[in-house]
Amino acid sequence: MDCLFCKIANKEIESEVLFEDDYCVAFKDINPVAPTHLLVIPKKHIDGIDTINELDKEIVAHIFMIIKLLAKREGLNNGYRVISNVGADGGQSIRHLHFHLIGGKKLGWNFE
Ligand code: AMP
Ligand code: ZN
Repeated sequence: MDCLFCKIANKEIESEVLFEDDYCVAFKDINPVAPTHLLVIPKKHIDGIDTINELDKEIVAHIFMIIKLLAKREGLNNGYRVISNVGADGGQSIRHLHFHLIGGKKLGWNFE
């Protein structure tokens, strides 16, 4: 499958990986919107939140534990934001489930 994030998970494409285990990879977003902007993805290809199935529940729960760990590791003691865009209206540009971990500054709340 021609999926950018599968290729990042497989190391076919380089990225700045900050964490990896059997189930997920976390790497720096190439176009950061804040001092900390990481993407946490399952190694398994899942299109997005809209296609998560019963068998994926543990992976998704695990990713949230890793997000918590990475936020602590990044020193985001004053809070942070976790975003997953879904589909066209949600602004999902890459159809491989990913969670943005964003922080390191006071974030606004602007939608167009
Ligand atoms: P989304 O728009 O929610 O699908 O998020 C996709 C994110 O992937 C964007 O924030 C991009 O900046 C980021 N991105 C795209 N290509 C790469 C890459 N090769 N390495 C790291 N981040 C990337
Ligand atoms: Zn993929």
